[in-house]
Amino acid sequence: MFRIIIFICLGALALYAKPAVTVSILPQQYMVEKIAGDTVDVVVMVSANANHETYEPKPSQMKLLAKSDIYFAVGLPFEEAWLERFAAASPKIAIIDTGKGTEKIELLEHRHHAAHDDDAHHDREEEHAVHEHEDHEHATHEHEDGLDPHIWLDPVLVKIQAKNIVSALSSKYPQNAALYAKNYENFAKELDALDAELSKKLAALKNRNFFVFHPSWGYFAKRYGLEQIFVEIEGREPKAAELVEILKETKEKNIKALFVEPQVSEKNAKIVADEIGAKLIRVDPMKKDLGKNLNELADTLLGL
Ligand SMILES: [Zn+2]
Repeated sequence: MFRIIIFICLGALALYAKPAVTVSILPQQYMVEKIAGDTVDVVVMVSANANHETYEPKPSQMKLLAKSDIYFAVGLPFEEAWLERFAAASPKIAIIDTGKGTEKIELLEHRHHAAHDDDAHHDREEEHAVHEHEDHEHATHEHEDGLDPHIWLDPVLVKIQAKNIVSALSSKYPQNAALYAKNYENFAKELDALDAELSKKLAALKNRNFFVFHPSWGYFAKRYGLEQIFVEIEGREPKAAELVEILKETKEKNIKALFVEPQVSEKNAKIVADEIGAKLIRVDPMKKDLGKNLNELADTLLGL
């Protein structure tokens, strides 16, 4: 009798188990949940305290992936190396590029611009070549195309990502398509309101430059007419000559604070901040509620 009850319970569980989808990062979980409501379980690949630039999926996550119907990629370096393996490990999984249709910016454009004299420029090019050679095997540390992956930190680009999520979910679960379309409309309104609020707030900002350790906020900066000065790129710290250029720029632009992510070594960030007498402020581009996160950053900038 007992066995029969267990059998029935397990059967019921299987019957009512929700389908699962996997995303790379927490802000994508936020987007998928906004659209899917409780119709799917969302698995997140990169945990809150992991470094999103150098991440490597765990064997347990590869196993879990086999239960997912969709993988929502966002364009992070680790995906370049792992998406093929995801597809091989889970033949039925649909891999969706949520960044499709977003206009990507060049990460190094700014740094090249900052290096005024020919020598520094030449130095950089040379160093880059060496770096590429040395790191040949560590494909996860390199963006092949050198494009900025942080597209989840601009409400306008989030709307495009949400649209891609809606189409993927609707073709996989057509029975819920009407719900997804309705949820998208609401989410799009929230994102429009967020964009308007940020525009209004940041219009009042006097110093249009801000200084960050890791260059997460390029799209946010571009959207609201700000400029992000940054220390490291793709997990790599600058050479001494580059750092001198960066620090010179922060002095010229009257920088008072250095924003640092919890995933970055506070010791390194403190050395840089102390050098220019700036205070260290924690920011986390990986927080799940991206709207709240962007508003908090805007408020912090206004409070400097
Ligand atoms: Zn990053």
